[in-house]
Amino acid sequence: MDVVRKVVKEEEEYKMKINILEKTEQKLTFELTESNETFANTLRRIMISEVPTMAIDEINFFANDSALYDEILAHRIGLVPLTTDLKIYNLPENCKCKGEGCNLCRTIISLKSEGPKMVYAEELTATDEEIKAYHPKMPLVLLLEGQKIKFEATAILGLGKNHAKYMPGAIFYKHKAKLKINNSHVDFDKFKDKYPKQAFKDGKLDEEKLLRNDLYQACANINKDILAIKYDRDNFIFKVESFGQLAPEEILRTSIEKLNEKTGDFAKAIKQDGKKLKLPSLKRS
Ligand SMILES: [Zn+2]
Repeated sequence: MDVVRKVVKEEEEYKMKINILEKTEQKLTFELTESNETFANTLRRIMISEVPTMAIDEINFFANDSALYDEILAHRIGLVPLTTDLKIYNLPENCKCKGEGCNLCRTIISLKSEGPKMVYAEELTATDEEIKAYHPKMPLVLLLEGQKIKFEATAILGLGKNHAKYMPGAIFYKHKAKLKINNSHVDFDKFKDKYPKQAFKDGKLDEEKLLRNDLYQACANINKDILAIKYDRDNFIFKVESFGQLAPEEILRTSIEKLNEKTGDFAKAIKQDGKKLKLPSLKRS
């Protein structure tokens, strides 16, 4: 991915880059280079709190004979991850309808079922066929013989900062590790059996294997002269694990757009106020 944005901090200039290391349908690992903790954490926070996803917000029960109260069932249904299309849908507050509700900011989802059976998330039917439960076999409620359930719900886009059901995934990062391995150490044979098999390549401790299998931190405690870790202060390894509403790279892309929007607004505010705007400064005693 291209340079995210040049951030000028006093006279220093960061030229951050994002390199994708590994990508699957639900997980993304990338490296953020030439950056710092402040920026890395800002990016993580924007990903979990400012990237919109779709979830059920309101629900009207016409029948619920199950053992679960309406409130409990509504809460469970609200947490079902729904496939989200950010190209079509708007956040209600940004929609042309001004939040009144139209087919660009909400969709109706209904369900009608009768026991005996386990009702799964796949039975949720939206008016927009593109919207469905990402995990079809997520159990919602158990119905016994003759028990019925019928409801109509409204799904909207929302933000993780307002409710955890809108969070797009689990996002975490750590400083990139640099390993110092001494395979010819005098005590290597004595300690060899203490390291897991996945840390070796051709009978030697291997940097790539240790990093890829996330074993280096545990292995570093065995003998500091054989394996030592140094953390790179400027480079970070990020992991994005999507809950299923959006593809992990879409979470990243949207968060960068949001960040650029926010820094753009901030830059504009400073420009407009000119010299009048005073930024708070930290004084050291
Ligand atoms: Zn609307």
